[in-house]
Formats: sequence, structure tokens, C-alpha cells
Amino acid sequence: VTARAAVLVTGTEVLTGRVADRNGPWMAEQLRVHGVDIASVTVVGDRPDDLRTALRVLTGSGVDVVFTSGGLGPTADDLTAEIVAEVQGRPLRFDPGVHETVAAIVARLNATRGWHLDPAATDAATRKQAMVPVGGTALAPVGTAPGLIVPVAEGRAGPPVIVLPGPPRELQGMWDAALASPLVAAALANREEVRQRTLRLWGTPESELAAVLRRLGRALDPLEITTCLRLGGELEIVSRFPPDAQAAYDQFAAAIGESFPATLFSPDGRTIDDIVADLLLAGHLTIATTESCTAGLLAGRIADRPGSSEYLLGGLVTYSNEAKSALADVPASLIARVGAVSAEVAQAMAAGARKKLGTDLGVGITGIAGPGGGTPDKPVGLVYLHVSGPDGAERARRAVFPGSRADVRAGAVYLALQMVRQVLQAR
Ligand code: ATP
Ligand code: MG
Repeated sequence: VTARAAVLVTGTEVLTGRVADRNGPWMAEQLRVHGVDIASVTVVGDRPDDLRTALRVLTGSGVDVVFTSGGLGPTADDLTAEIVAEVQGRPLRFDPGVHETVAAIVARLNATRGWHLDPAATDAATRKQAMVPVGGTALAPVGTAPGLIVPVAEGRAGPPVIVLPGPPRELQGMWDAALASPLVAAALANREEVRQRTLRLWGTPESELAAVLRRLGRALDPLEITTCLRLGGELEIVSRFPPDAQAAYDQFAAAIGESFPATLFSPDGRTIDDIVADLLLAGHLTIATTESCTAGLLAGRIADRPGSSEYLLGGLVTYSNEAKSALADVPASLIARVGAVSAEVAQAMAAGARKKLGTDLGVGITGIAGPGGGTPDKPVGLVYLHVSGPDGAERARRAVFPGSRADVRAGAVYLALQMVRQVLQAR
């Protein structure tokens, strides 16, 4: 049987959504890559009772290892070490070696920051971080907090608990050392590769996909398939399977390709952003945008990728009518005649981006993001998009996006990327 692990993410800021959890998903993916099955990711706040209850449940759930993140800091609300020690039945003991390490790091930090702190307070904080459960091991700090490997008390059965810091950079920096420690390596010895493959469709409703899945029936048994309808109407199909089910997966992927040849835009899992970037690079083409309701979100999205300077030359944010004319050469008379939110103006904006920035492709986006400003014939969520490419290649769309202002703007950006792909692939 494959080794299994559970993850416990701590922190009231994560529980309440003030900070989006980056540790649970990261550890889940790392464990999959290492061939370890992940049983659960649990989030609890910084409350001792909740932390204790969750730890008792997870250590008693039959998993081989429990990982925790967060709560290793010097302040009183950081209580993970204390509660893990209690649940594992291993009292905390001051470790002079760890104290020396932490004190040296803190002294160096304070010196570089030019801080002159109360030595007594600093010492109390570093002493708290130097408490190690008897029989446990400390992992060298990446920031200031050491991690901990805490086996269950002798004579009791249960998995070790690996205590890692909350800041993602620190947790990730400690990860390899945690997995390499003899106790963890032994607990996770039974590994089996889990393959993961992704297909992306755009324009196929979930119900049609469901019909194909039903038709394939038992042939899908060796695969764990999850489908997810994502923003912009993208249908993401993720399959997880053991290596000996590769043939079953290949059959499944082929069946999807045959059933949805027009909408399967990513047979290899690449995102729309990946595909647009690859197409622009392969064609040695450049792109620029003129954006009204998205006000630079598309250009920003394209620039999220390292290396985007190869193809993104610039973007015009033209929120007002005057800006559309002044920056993108949209004739004021055209705006007066058909309105700023119109197919004609979107086309003129795309042409303006191309001309002003001298690019191969230009994108124009104009719409009503809301929540106010809608009229009966131009409702909130209405967006006109236009992509102009080389050799007269064009693509125009009128869309009405449901949802909030953020949904409308994000939906428009996604649709624009799909349209850019279509123009590039039509070449
Ligand atoms: P510190 O010494 O900084 O207190 P810590 O190990 O006690 O470290 P936390 O106090 O729980 O960690 O978290 C410190 C910061 O790290 C949080 O304010 C948050 O910004 C970030 N952080 C913690 N947990 C997560 C998480 N699961 N996902 C993303 N960020 C996190
Ligand atoms: Mg915390």
C-alpha cells in the first residue's frame, strides 16, 4: 500500500481567508510528486483546543505522517510546538544548541535592520523557539524558526508529526530536509508514482462531457478523474492514475479528442497563457493591447510570465473617451456615433494598439464592468473584444459576462486570450 500523509495548516489568517493558503496545496503537490498519497488538508485557527482536536484526529486517522504549517513564531499565539508535543506525549525541553542557532540568526537580523531591542524580550522569544520535544529533532531554520520532527511517545502507536513554519518561503526551504530525515523517510518508504495529466476544453458544457464519461464507463475505473468548470467557461479535466494505467488514460484522452475536436484546446495541460506565449514565441510575433474596462489587466496577465518582453511591447489604458482618441487614435466621431462600448470602437482600439506600438497583434477591449452604468441595450457585463493580427487576421466577439465587476473583467481577459490563440492558430 502507498504511504499516506495528512496536512494540517494552522493560522487564523488562513482560516478566515485573509491570507490564501499556499502551504496546503504546495505540500499536496510535492507529496504527489514523491508518490505519497495525501489524505486531507485541514485548516484550523490559532486556537489551542481546535489545534489539539485536529491533531488528535489526524494522528489517529491511520496516515503515515502528519505535516503541520505555521505557528512556530516567538509570539504567544504561536502554539504549534507546544500542542504537538502534548499530543505526541513528548514534553518540551530547552535545547541549548538550537537556542544558540536561533539567537545568532536573530542577532544578525536585528543588526542588519539597525534595531536595538530589549535584550530580555529578545531572549524570551528565542528561548521559546528553542524548545524541542524530548526525542524529537529540530530542522535548521530558513527564517528564524526551526522546524520539528516529533515522533509519538515510546510504547504508543502513531505517525510522526512534522512541524514546519508558516511563511511559504521558509516552509519550502525546509521541505527537502524534512523528507530526508530518517524518521520521515522510513514512514514514507512505500511510495508509488502517481501520474497526473490535464486536458482543457473551451466551449463544451459539463453535461456533454458527462455523457462521454458515462459512455466510457468501466474503462475509466483505473483513473481518478476530476472535472472543474473554471472562470471563462474553461473545462479542466484532471486525471490521476498509477503508471500501469497509462494505457487507460491514453484511451480516455483519445476519446475526449475525438468527441470534442473543436473545443479541446489543450491536450497536454498547458494553460491558455502558456499556449498564447508559446504561439507568439514560435511565430516571432509581438502584441499590444488597448484596454478600457479591463484597464491593463490583459497586459498585466501577459506580463506575468517571465520572458514576456519577447512579445509584449506595451498596452494602452484608455478608460475615458478622450483617452481612446488621444492614445489609441479612435476617432471621436466614431465614439459619438456608435458609443464607446461597441464592436466598432473595440476594432478601432485593436487597430490603435497595433499602429501605436508597431506590433503584429493588437487587442481592443471595451465594456461595462458594473455594477452601475448598464442600460437596457448595453447591460452590465457587456464587453466587446477585438483581436487584429497579421495579414488581415481578425476575431471579434460580443459577450455578456455574469457576476461581479471582478468576474466581468476576469472573464474578458480570459476570452481575449482565447481569441488571441484563435487568431494565432488560424495562421
Ligand atoms: P513567524 O515566525 O513569522 O510567526 P510562523 O511559523 O509562526 O512564523 P505564522 O505566524 O503562522 O508562521 O505565519 C507567518 C506568516 O506566514 C503569516 O502572516 C502569513 O503571511 C504567512 N503564512 C502562514 N501560513 C500560510 C499559508 N498556509 N499560506 C500562505 N501564507 C501563510
Ligand atoms: Mg501564526
